[in-house]
Amino acid sequence: METAFISLGSNLDHPIEHVLEAASQMDNLESTKVCNLSSLYKTIPIGPQNQNDYINAVAIIETNLTPTDLLSTLQGIEKKHRRKRGIKWGPRSLDLDILLFGKLVLRTRDLIIPHRELVKREFVLIPLLEVTNHDFIIPNYGKIKKYL
Ligand code: AMP
Repeated sequence: METAFISLGSNLDHPIEHVLEAASQMDNLESTKVCNLSSLYKTIPIGPQNQNDYINAVAIIETNLTPTDLLSTLQGIEKKHRRKRGIKWGPRSLDLDILLFGKLVLRTRDLIIPHRELVKREFVLIPLLEVTNHDFIIPNYGKIKKYL
């Protein structure tokens, strides 16, 4: 079992429902359990501004999956929410990203862990702080408090 941190985001249809349903879909996987879910944060979009506000959260999960299998499993959940890939940073019914996977530092064509935008995005850092603490170490980057 490995502990991983997943970011959840939505700004289409019923964003709160998409985020909460995605959390329970992760928890219902045989391979994976959700140990903690942050509060839901309403955030303004980055990129194009002519879109709805987002609902964002971070979940702590325990999983038996490899990082690659976890990514494809999360993409399967995104698909169930009928996410259509469109313009970069455009509206989405569900976005699930692997923020951290234990202490792993990985850079492949399909997967970068820690997630490359993690330390740049308040809408990820604030819920991540909520489920950790100021001294939490982000592998390869150092203490979370440096980035807040
Ligand atoms: P996005 O549209 O922002 O959800 O980006 C999805 C793409 O980012 C996928 O094709 C993944 O292969 C790639 N990706 C790279 N690193 C990660 C990560 N840590 N978590 C999720 N997707 C990732």
